[in-house]
Amino acid sequence: MTIILLISFSSHIFMKKNFNRYLEDIIEGRKKSLIKDISNTYKNGQWDNKNIEDIGIEAINNGFIISIKDISDNVIWSAKTHNSSMCEAMMSRMGYNMSIVNPGYKGDYTEEVYNLKIDEKYAGILEIGYYGPLYYNDSDVIFFKTLDNILIFVGIFSLGISIFIGILISTSISKPIGSVVKATNSIATGKYKNKIKKESNIKEINEMISSVNTLAFSLDEEEKIRKIMTKDISHELRTPLTTMQGQLEALIDGIWEPTEERLQSIHEEVRRLSRLVGSLEHLSRYESEDLILNKNEVDIKELVEMILINFEKELHDKNISVNNKLETFIINVDRDKITQGLINIISNGIKYTEQGGIIEITCDEGKNIAIIHIRDNGIGISKEHLPYIFQRFYRADKSRTRATGGAGIGLTISKAIIEAHGGNIKVKSEINKGTEFIIEIPKV
Ligand code: ADP
Repeated sequence: MTIILLISFSSHIFMKKNFNRYLEDIIEGRKKSLIKDISNTYKNGQWDNKNIEDIGIEAINNGFIISIKDISDNVIWSAKTHNSSMCEAMMSRMGYNMSIVNPGYKGDYTEEVYNLKIDEKYAGILEIGYYGPLYYNDSDVIFFKTLDNILIFVGIFSLGISIFIGILISTSISKPIGSVVKATNSIATGKYKNKIKKESNIKEINEMISSVNTLAFSLDEEEKIRKIMTKDISHELRTPLTTMQGQLEALIDGIWEPTEERLQSIHEEVRRLSRLVGSLEHLSRYESEDLILNKNEVDIKELVEMILINFEKELHDKNISVNNKLETFIINVDRDKITQGLINIISNGIKYTEQGGIIEITCDEGKNIAIIHIRDNGIGISKEHLPYIFQRFYRADKSRTRATGGAGIGLTISKAIIEAHGGNIKVKSEINKGTEFIIEIPKV
């Protein structure tokens, strides 16, 4: 609105200034042609009175009051004498016109005297009176008013259009933002299910909507995981505790004899519990943001060979052969922690591979990263479980993995260690065909 007002106002001022200048030139031109026309009536030392009268009447209509005197200062023709009321009407008309177009303009009757020379000889005097220094006749006023009206019309029209477009744009922005605000408010109160459905044709707003939807989805998932975790952790702790409680009560009540076997069984449960708590402690340490890594140059080949030596018995018992295709490959990592991460993955490979299976380990070099593949041809993981196996306490097949002794924390620890090194871990698996873990670790 401000811009339109400014443009209209400044155009009006600018136009008036230039139009006034143009009129000054026109008036100057009219005066010159008046002098010429009057001079042309002088023939053979005589003024042609009839012609002068015609020119004088025409001049009144054009805004000039003229009077002509001969060399002896006798008035030949004077507009005021000819028709003084017409002259007054014309003057007041000009004054009125100026007050409409230029309110506050200070103009008055002005008279200019010209010596008329015919063939270099003085022939008389022409007095030209007009509303000076500038006047608008009726057609000038109409012209100027039309220009002004066009400006006002264009101004109002542009204002209307800009208000219309403004409303369109602001509603197209404010409506989706309103739904985002509503959604974030409901997220703040813990309701994550309400997805924002509104689509906007503004790219940034669409990105904001999809970010908020993703945020709501992640929070919902987190919430689910938290609930599952609480359920799982209590379940994990309850089972050994109930067993031990029952056994100890039987011993206290004297129903059971405290044989070495029974005490051994209770001891085993206690160890299982402390292993679980120990893993949780490890995990919270690895997941903490200020985990300190003691990085050193480590040869992956040598590291994996050492791990495999520790698993010699298990590999032998299940007759699993290891196809180790590693070559010397130096990376800069925290040796102990990476060892822990790899142990969890390799031990899973052994755990979840049937008798006579094969485990293959390879390493590729990426751009500043080492890509380690640990592949087995074991039982595999079904599609429905695959996205969750890195979550704590997640076990694809609870009854079977319980028997293998896992609590579902191993892969969570491996992932935390690898991510602490700036790397990442992915898994591909097909049920009954095998599983492949792809571990990417930055070389430095
Ligand atoms: P767990 O201690 O139970 O092995 P992990 O976190 O190490 O826990 O693994 C999570 C789950 O992922 C396991 O319970 C198992 O179902 C599945 N899993 C992991 N590695 C393999 C593998 N190599 N083959 C088949 N299943 C696997």
